[in-house]
Amino acid sequence: MAKGKIKVNTDNIFPIIKKFLYSDHEIFLRELVSNAVDATQKLKKLHSIGEYKGDLDDLAIKIRIDKENGTLHVIDQGIGMTAEEVKKYINQIAFSSAESFLEKFKDLEDSAAIIGHFGLGFYSAFMVSDKVELITKSYKDEDAASWTCDGTPNYDLKKANKTERGTEVILHIADDSKEFLEENRISDILNKYCKFLPIEIIFGEQTKTEKDKDGKEVQTSEPKVINNPKPAWIQKPAKLKDEDYLNFYNELYPFSEPPLFWIHLNVDFPFNLTGILYFPKIQESNFEIQKKRIQLYSNQVFVTDQVEEIVPEFLMLLQGVIDSPDIPLNVSRSYLQSDANVKKINKYISKKVADELSKLFSKKRPDFEEKWSSIGLFVKYGMISDEKFYEKAKSFCLLENMEGKFFSIEEYKEKVKALQTDKNNKVVFLYSNQLEDQHTYIEAAKERSYEVIKLDNVIDNHFMQQVEMKFDDVVFKRVDADTPEKLIEKENENTSVLSSDEEEKLKNIYAEVVEKPEVEIELQALSPNDHPVMITKPEINRRMKEMASMGGGAMSFMGQMPDQLKLIVNTNHPLASKILRSKAKKKQLVQQLFDLALLSQNMLRGSDLTDFINRSVDVIND
Ligand code: ADP
Repeated sequence: MAKGKIKVNTDNIFPIIKKFLYSDHEIFLRELVSNAVDATQKLKKLHSIGEYKGDLDDLAIKIRIDKENGTLHVIDQGIGMTAEEVKKYINQIAFSSAESFLEKFKDLEDSAAIIGHFGLGFYSAFMVSDKVELITKSYKDEDAASWTCDGTPNYDLKKANKTERGTEVILHIADDSKEFLEENRISDILNKYCKFLPIEIIFGEQTKTEKDKDGKEVQTSEPKVINNPKPAWIQKPAKLKDEDYLNFYNELYPFSEPPLFWIHLNVDFPFNLTGILYFPKIQESNFEIQKKRIQLYSNQVFVTDQVEEIVPEFLMLLQGVIDSPDIPLNVSRSYLQSDANVKKINKYISKKVADELSKLFSKKRPDFEEKWSSIGLFVKYGMISDEKFYEKAKSFCLLENMEGKFFSIEEYKEKVKALQTDKNNKVVFLYSNQLEDQHTYIEAAKERSYEVIKLDNVIDNHFMQQVEMKFDDVVFKRVDADTPEKLIEKENENTSVLSSDEEEKLKNIYAEVVEKPEVEIELQALSPNDHPVMITKPEINRRMKEMASMGGGAMSFMGQMPDQLKLIVNTNHPLASKILRSKAKKKQLVQQLFDLALLSQNMLRGSDLTDFINRSVDVIND
């Protein structure tokens, strides 16, 4: 038997390991199982190139809890190690990397966050153990070796009589880590980190009820494989059917509504990346609380579902898996942001999503339109936040009109430009975000054969702003931004039938009745068939206000200000002359008209509404 002392500069790193990794103890299992997987894959490789000529036999990795002895076992049948290799890999290399890692990070404030995604490898076993045993037999024809270490720099290395190839790591679980002897706890950890590891992992048993030859039910138990070694994302897209993608989605997010569609990522240059991104059905009401996030894997080992730096922000609502060995995991967030690979990956994903959407748009337009209510949100968000994405998306971003027909921006421009180009040569896109409330205005626009689109998404204000900036001949106007006549301003203005004297008088009567600082009264010579009075909400002012109240920050006070309103009085409506002629009822008529205008904007409330109703009864009674 050989006794030895691990060379350490720090007196004893094990207490430090324990302290440092306190928040993330469970990853020890990920590390040990990953090592077992690596050892098994190395053996398969050696076998395939004829370097190892023995049988592979069963390669499944087994995890076993021995409650009585307080031990947890990780057993593989991989390449194993000779005694010399144990000395080299476990005592020297593994140890020195653990040590240098700790040296590097022990003084940093946010070390916990850094370590969170970093594997300490084999030595992380000491986070949960008093003593660790490693019994291993190499695929080479040599004696098995047993290594024991009790958390001090001293280790024992001796011959063992293990006869099967491979490595067994035995953790003598420490008193403060007894949770790792609980079946449920281990099962949860395996499920989180090891669900898609490429080698079968067996943990526990599964009882099955079968019928024997006499039809009697018998219970048999068999080892339970807890992972899917061939998840869809590592397979060739051409070999997968829709059903396979949907099944895999179900495996990732059980009991969820099926996704709308998906994108299979597969690159090996200039970085390595595979994965499947799913577009979920989005309900706007809960789109903030999105829990089923994209999961990040490194060679099929789960790493994290915090993928902020890797996935463009506008795609954070997507779901699925990204797998890349090229994403550095052992570094802090701020480092990730500046990492060249991460940047490339981010760009690639954005481009790939744009290309796939573009393909869907041109090849399966009806399908694309049907899904627009869900994908529209991603697309618009992407157009606002990512210049390159905008360039692609502008040709497949859709606008929906009142009849539920869809148009790309260019198509729509072509469709409406004859009627809806104003005197400044801008094509005016009329929209509504409240079909019910703005009904009067929509009807008035239709009366003039104008088209109206629906834009009622939370980010539509920003979206319009962006489109107006890029297409300098397009402006958006909400249907109630102006009187129907002025929504699209043309050269030929109507003349007023009133004299300027009469106009002055009319304006004064209105001013006396309305008395609200936020309401500006404006006389317009509209058609006699238009409404006698209308409330409008000037577009720019309103939109800025809405955006400010959404965005928070320095501008948010704007969101609290009352709406700027315009009361447009149609001087050509017969009622204008009637009011001027009327003696006693002037004010009553004006009040009634003003209230009607408020009512059509759904703005007449409380005592004003009660007064209006009472007054209406009087008017009818007259
Ligand atoms: P890493 O896996 O990052 O190299 P570890 O500390 O986890 O670091 O392991 C150090 C080395 O010990 C491995 O590179 C490998 O050579 C050897 N090793 C660890 N676990 C096993 C195992 N189960 N079977 C064979 N070799 C192993």
